[in-house]
Amino acid sequence: MKIQNGCSVRFWTDLWHPKGRLIDLAGEIGTQKLGIGRSARICDVFVDGEWRFRRCRDHFLQDLVHDIRELPLILTANVSDGVLWRDGDDTYSSRFNSKNTWGNIRKKKDQVMWSRLIWFQQGVPRFAFITWLAVRDRLSTGHRTAQWGQAQYCLYCGEPDETRDHLFFACPYTFTLWLKVAGNLFGKDPDPDWDTTITRLLTGHYDRLTFILLRLVLQVTIYYIWRERNERLHNNVSKPVEHIARLVDKTIRNRIMSTRYYLRPRLQGLMQRWFGAHDT
Ligand SMILES: [Zn+2]
Repeated sequence: MKIQNGCSVRFWTDLWHPKGRLIDLAGEIGTQKLGIGRSARICDVFVDGEWRFRRCRDHFLQDLVHDIRELPLILTANVSDGVLWRDGDDTYSSRFNSKNTWGNIRKKKDQVMWSRLIWFQQGVPRFAFITWLAVRDRLSTGHRTAQWGQAQYCLYCGEPDETRDHLFFACPYTFTLWLKVAGNLFGKDPDPDWDTTITRLLTGHYDRLTFILLRLVLQVTIYYIWRERNERLHNNVSKPVEHIARLVDKTIRNRIMSTRYYLRPRLQGLMQRWFGAHDT
């Protein structure tokens, strides 16, 4: 419960108990049983230093009332009521902050190891999003849509089971593409296995520029493989692998240019590193 400066939370329903919001704990019926109106203000319920609750037999509500009476409440006269926004675990503010509010209501989980492969400063949201889906194996591959009775196969090579791991990059077509675009960024040939690729990205030792390019090339390649796959599925048109490789290369060069790397000491040499990765 948070009450400051008299009635800093205006309505009874805005009161916070250590276990949660009172209206959520007691519910509409509990609130009625305690004799409190939906829009009752604190000063309607807390009068002359006493909480005015109606007696009730409900043990849960009795415990709740007991807890409420235990909490110290100091009312300051001549201070008007107001609502405070919960800012953190135990901090409140009169200003609404969407970031803090989202932080309060969302389910918090440990940061996953692979998050730095998805979100980084030089990344592009539309490539990051498809990669995020791929890492979580949530792209609607044939393997997944087959659960709803749809026929499926790899649209690149005809393999009967189109899984995430097949598309990235066990399929002969996509692995050929991956070899072309990844160049020497890994320090050795890329691997067709998905788990090996992700592990290598997360545990390998790469200089800063190489690691930026590795993440970029992973994301852009996944994006174009998925887009080409959908083109083949819906429009019956297919591009040769060299065409997709040129698209990936062009997209990455454009992204490198848009970072204005040449003006930024930490990114100096980014374009040269990209060209250097593909000198054969
Ligand atoms: Zn295939």
